[in-house]
This record gives sequence, C-alpha cells and structure tokens, in this order.
Amino acid sequence: MRGGSIAVVGGSIAGCAAALAASRGGAERITVLERADARLRDRGVGIALHSDRFDELRDGGYVTPEMPWAPLSRRVWSARDGDTEHGRVIGEQPFPFRAYSWGSLWSELRRRVPEDVFYRSGAVVTDVEPDADGVTVRLDGGEKERFDVVIGADGYRSVVREAMFPGAEATYAGYIGWRGTSPDAADLPSDGHEAHNIVFPGGHCMIYRIPDGAGGHLLNWVLYTTPPWAESLEAGLRTPTSLPPGRLDAELTAYLRGLVADNFPPYWAARVLRTPAATTFIQPIYDLEVPRYTQGRMVLVGDAASVARPHIGGGSVKALQDAHALEQAWAAGDDWEEVLGSYDAGRRAIGAAMVALARRMGAAQVENTPDWSAMGQPEFDEWWHDQNNGSDRRSGFGGHSVKAT
Ligand SMILES: Cc1cc2nc3c(=O)[nH]c(=O)nc-3n(C[C@H](O)[C@H](O)[C@H](O)COP(=O)(O)OP(=O)(O)OC[C@H]3O[C@@H](n4cnc5c(N)ncnc54)[C@H](O)[C@@H]3O)c2cc1C
Repeated sequence: MRGGSIAVVGGSIAGCAAALAASRGGAERITVLERADARLRDRGVGIALHSDRFDELRDGGYVTPEMPWAPLSRRVWSARDGDTEHGRVIGEQPFPFRAYSWGSLWSELRRRVPEDVFYRSGAVVTDVEPDADGVTVRLDGGEKERFDVVIGADGYRSVVREAMFPGAEATYAGYIGWRGTSPDAADLPSDGHEAHNIVFPGGHCMIYRIPDGAGGHLLNWVLYTTPPWAESLEAGLRTPTSLPPGRLDAELTAYLRGLVADNFPPYWAARVLRTPAATTFIQPIYDLEVPRYTQGRMVLVGDAASVARPHIGGGSVKALQDAHALEQAWAAGDDWEEVLGSYDAGRRAIGAAMVALARRMGAAQVENTPDWSAMGQPEFDEWWHDQNNGSDRRSGFGGHSVKAT
C-alpha cells in the first residue's frame, strides 16, 4: 500500500514511532499534530526496556544502542527490618532491563522522524470526524484538514479513541504512582546494576538508576500505593489526569513522606526523602482496553490503544511494537482495509494480554499485598509465579516478544 495522507495525533513515544512507521510503509504525506509547544517537556523519568525487547526493536530500526542507558541485571525486593540499614531481602530475581530516561528515548525517536514529515508543535486536536474514506481533523484554532488515515498516538486521554469508541475511557485503578528523580545516584549497592523494590503493606516502590544525559546518573523511583482519603480524591482521579511538580497536594505529600519514613529501610528512606520536591509528581494509575485497534480509517497506537499498569514494565515497548507492526502491515497490505485489518488482528490481543497481566500484578503488589515480612525466597518465587499466570517465561512481563504477534 503506497501513498496517502496521514495525520498522527500526538508526537510523543508512540507518535514519533508511528510517523516513522507510516513513512517506511510508504505514506505520501505525513503530519504529526502535537499539543505541547516546541519541545516536549523532558519528562525526567525512567523507562526500563527489557533487553530482549530492545534487541527486537533495534533490529526493527526503532531504537539504537547509542542512546544513553544504564544496565540492570537483577531486581532485589526488600522489606523494612527494624533499623537494619538496607532492610531484609525477601526475594531476588533476574532483571535483564536497560534503563533509559524518557527524554533520551523520545529524542532518539524524534531524530528518526524523517525530515519530510511535518511535525507541528502546539497543535491541539479537538475533534476527529470520520467519513467513508477519510477523516477530518479539527484543531483548537478552528482550522480543519482531511486525511486518508488518522493515527491516534495521543495517549490515555485520546480524542481519536473517543471518535472511534465514545466513552471508552481509561479507568482509575484505585491507586497512584508517586514518581521522583534525584541527583542522589552515587554509591548505590552493586554499583547501581540492580533495581530495588521496597515493599510495604499496601504497595511497593521501584528504584533504579537512569542516565542523566550528561554522562552521569539520576536515581529514579516510583512508589505505588492507595492514597488515603480515597473518597475525596477519587472524583478528581477518575478523570484521567496527572499532578505535575509543584501542584502536589501538600497533605498528600506529607502522607507519602510519612509512609516512606515509617516503612522503608533507613538507607532507601533517606534516598527517596532527599529527592527535590520540584522533581516529584503524581500519576494516577489507569487501565484501558479498546474493542479494536482500528475503526474505518482510524488507528490507535501506544497508550491511546491500551494502558497497562506500569508494574509490567512494557508500555513503551508496546508503543514501539505497535508502530513496528503497523509498518509491517503497511508494507504487506494492498489497500487500507488489508493494512488496518492485519494491524488490528496482530496487536489487539497483545494489548489485552498486557492489561490483564498488569492488573494481576497491581492486585498482588498494591491492592492485596501479602505479608511480606513472612516471605523468603521460596515464598517470593511462588508469589511471583502466581502473578505470571503460572508461567515464568513469556508471561508478557517487560512486554511480549514481537514473535508473539
Ligand atoms: C508510573 C509509570 C511508569 C512507567 N514505566 C514504564 C517503564 O519502565 N517501561 C515502559 O516501557 N513503560 C513505562 N510506562 C509506560 C510508558 O510511559 C507509556 O506507555 C509510553 O510512554 C507510551 O506513551 P504514548 O506515546 O502512547 O503516550 P503519551 O506519552 O501520553 O503521549 C501522548 C502525546 O499526545 C499528545 N496529545 C494528547 N492529546 C492531544 C491532542 N488532543 N492534540 C494533540 N496532541 C495531543 C500529548 O501532548 C503527548 O505528547 C510507565 C508509565 C507510568 C504511568
């Protein structure tokens, strides 16, 4: 299938990758419409990519070994044990991941978007209207343009998805992720080659090193827990949102800091509590599934299509794989029906499987946490095995292999 005019709504990880896919697939004219101004704010957060998934995406031409990264080989789960500095290890597991900062991953994808793609910053799409053989996209200034196909890469609050499946919204999982990055990344155990998961009743906190983009490292962490006063917070959190630095409710911050002080081993409590307030923020956690990845001439990729709770460590992988699969469907199909039908058939089930696995992990790691204090390695292994649906290999943790599509 060659030619055609394509709008990509959203120019983040999924959007840049989808523009690249459309270009390689043979689209004639591609416009990326990104709401954010000139440069997407460098979200200084960590993204961990499973090494095997990285290799597949490198072979597919979406990522490169040159992007700054920090290697991770093991994940150590620890619980507070009185005043013992590092707490007690309840379990360890292989963790073959590559740690990136969101900014370096995005910059590489943005660099790969070919020059003849029109990447429009500050372009807010307000409406998407399909017709029999195209889609009209409206911008907030009133401007409108018709395209042969629109790709929704506009994240969990997607306007493209709303046009495809009105009311199919991300639903609040009932808990939040409190995220932070701190310059305090020196002298970590095992030279920083381990990811650490600090567990406590009602949640856990994942901590690992990421590159700072200047040859050094930052400490990246995300703590998952159900906020107190759920009733009063929930009305706000049910509408997909995130609270950026500086807008964090003071009472909520005080609660989270207290939780860390009371429940973390002293070494990790100090590291988390020293994080500057300006680099912490809250992301409510959501689940999202759609009936299909395509509808008429509209297509979804990345978080616009499905959102799996982050315990699975595979959202960016899925976004890049969606684009890769779209490129392959494009190259193989003779008309739009074939291209879009084959893409949907390949990716819909993967998205649903990731959401399901992530729900199980969220239930086990946040909603119904076990008695961590009673766990040793054998109990930990059994607990982990259960979350992975009784399978330790190919459960989809870290993202499914592209060979699964
Ligand atoms: C706490 C947390 C931890 C995570 N950790 C990991 C991890 O370790 N590994 C991993 O692989 N994944 C992780 N993820 C998931 C990962 O961040 C996402 O799945 C991935 O970045 C895909 O993003 P996206 O490009 O689809 O959406 P987004 O990054 O949300 O991008 C959507 C883009 O669309 C734009 N946009 C939205 N609406 C409009 C509009 N109307 N008009 C124009 N533009 C619009 C936005 O400005 C934005 O740039 C994590 C997620 C969370 C919440």
